[in-house]
Amino acid sequence: MRFAKTVACIFSVLSVCLLGQRISSQTPVAGNRIVIAASTLFDGKGHVLRDTRVVVSGSKIVATDAKAGPVDYDLRGLTVLPGWIDAHAHITWIFGKDGKNAGMGGTSQEDTYKAASNAWLTLMAGFTTIQSPGSPNDIPLRDSIVAGIIPGPRILTAAEPLIGRGAQSGTPDEIRAYVRKQKEAGADLIKIFASQSIRQGGGMTLSQEQLNAACDEAKKLGLRTLVHAYKEAVRAATLAGCTEIEHGTMATDEDLKLMAEKGTYLDPQAGLIIENYLLHKGQYIGTSGYTAEGFEAMEKVLSLNHELVQRATKIPGLKVVFGTDAVAGSHGRNAEEFIDRVRDGGVEPMAAMVSANSLGAEALGMGDQIGSIAPDLQADIIALDGDPLKDITAVRRVVFVMKGGIVYKNVARTAIPAYAGVQP
Ligand SMILES: [Zn+2]
Repeated sequence: MRFAKTVACIFSVLSVCLLGQRISSQTPVAGNRIVIAASTLFDGKGHVLRDTRVVVSGSKIVATDAKAGPVDYDLRGLTVLPGWIDAHAHITWIFGKDGKNAGMGGTSQEDTYKAASNAWLTLMAGFTTIQSPGSPNDIPLRDSIVAGIIPGPRILTAAEPLIGRGAQSGTPDEIRAYVRKQKEAGADLIKIFASQSIRQGGGMTLSQEQLNAACDEAKKLGLRTLVHAYKEAVRAATLAGCTEIEHGTMATDEDLKLMAEKGTYLDPQAGLIIENYLLHKGQYIGTSGYTAEGFEAMEKVLSLNHELVQRATKIPGLKVVFGTDAVAGSHGRNAEEFIDRVRDGGVEPMAAMVSANSLGAEALGMGDQIGSIAPDLQADIIALDGDPLKDITAVRRVVFVMKGGIVYKNVARTAIPAYAGVQP
């Protein structure tokens, strides 16, 4: 696999090489043709198509053609749409043997199986691509999925994040060297922590100069940058030319307008992350970074997050993508964030879908590969029992999952439990 990839890289330009790394080689039968019938189809860009058929050949979509046949999968009566993209999921985060939060996990067999289970639950919940920002353990998981050893979503990872610690984070040159090291380790993007946890106040932990160095070096290497930022760090990361702001809590409208002007993506979290902490409080409290005081602050943060999403949706031109910050306890429940965004953040249901489809793909620099139902794109197709435009809780009822032309899930509607994907 590695040898074949290396050979392919020698004969191809860099971009094709990277593409080979990202797209799964879990290959469907070559030339295999599949026709899917849909009565309601979202194209991923905000349009609804009625009574059509999607033709898939190998791993790609070749056409939408109402006259195509014979039909292999009859998904009429459901809502058919592109597989979702979660811009922020910590796929290896697990609960340990004692049931407590074990963070990004270790490398024991149990930890590895749990990470593989997270990948499976995420795929079954309709997420065909995720971005993990990041853990070194993501790399073998990503590569095992690409190699077809285990099923899971396409994973893009930051490997080891750059954690801001003021002057201790290093000089701009040292920060540039750190960014290059992540690229060499196999990172698809660079994750930067420019603020403390919001539970500790959210103060800025990198200077403007340090942020400039990190995001500029990544750009030179052709890598995107995701910046964990609250309050004033949002503006600093935007001015540094970083690609995407994670969280963004307590950003002002002026900060958000600057992001819109500069084309900086925003990935806020309307609810799932904090709801999950509160749901699993006993398993988090006392583990690294989770104190009683931090839990007390969470209710307040939750309302600040609702308020941020409400304001962000009103800023013209601001590109808001879908990301959950999924950690232990929320893998497979990623779609709950759609419900939070619509119910508590005032997001239009179709805008919520697009944020995890074509806009999410564009933010990954993969808009020509995933996120839409269109010819030449990867055949990542899911179906929901219900119409999320009328009832957003339909996102919990994923009954069909195809990724790269392979069907991983196709179940009777009655087989979906009321609250799918809850982890043991
Ligand atoms: Zn995170």
